[in-house]
Amino acid sequence: MKKITAIYPGTFDPVTNGHLDIIERASKLFDNVIITIAVNSNKKPLFTENERVDMIKNVTKKFKNVSVDFFDGLLVSYAKKKKASVIIRGLRAISDFDYEFQIALTNRKLVPEVNTIFLMPSEKYSFLNSSLVRELASYNANLKEFVPEYVHRKLKEKYTK
Ligand code: ADP
Repeated sequence: MKKITAIYPGTFDPVTNGHLDIIERASKLFDNVIITIAVNSNKKPLFTENERVDMIKNVTKKFKNVSVDFFDGLLVSYAKKKKASVIIRGLRAISDFDYEFQIALTNRKLVPEVNTIFLMPSEKYSFLNSSLVRELASYNANLKEFVPEYVHRKLKEKYTK
């Protein structure tokens, strides 16, 4: 049977429990999941690409069909190169929809054989995003509910330097 590879693109600055929820769901649905870090993002990330890879690798060790990579340029070209037929995106709330809908339809125009699939996280993560986590970390808040222990440690290191 044909194996399905899915890519999960994002900034992951840093990876949160919301991302992990989506990764776990995707790992059960697809044969291979490649978490791919966008390096040409206009955002100025807190963590370097290597730091983000290190954190993702550390917290996804238990998922044997999940790997981590980078991409620079057009996402659909990357998908084709990796022979991926699925792009995964997380949908937290209706506020994500407009933007995601536009990107998904644009990508489908560019490469019709690649489909975007939206997964919804547990409702307890529906408010969570990386920028909230960064802001809370800068005030030394307790992030136990929001990020894995390893990521929490890395955030503390960043903000105590
Ligand atoms: P981007 O800059 O591409 O939005 P993010 O790292 O913020 O990168 O998010 C990557 C993907 O993960 C996006 O599809 C986003 O909607 C999804 N995502 C982010 N946080 C959550 C969360 N708490 N629950 C579910 N999906 C999420």
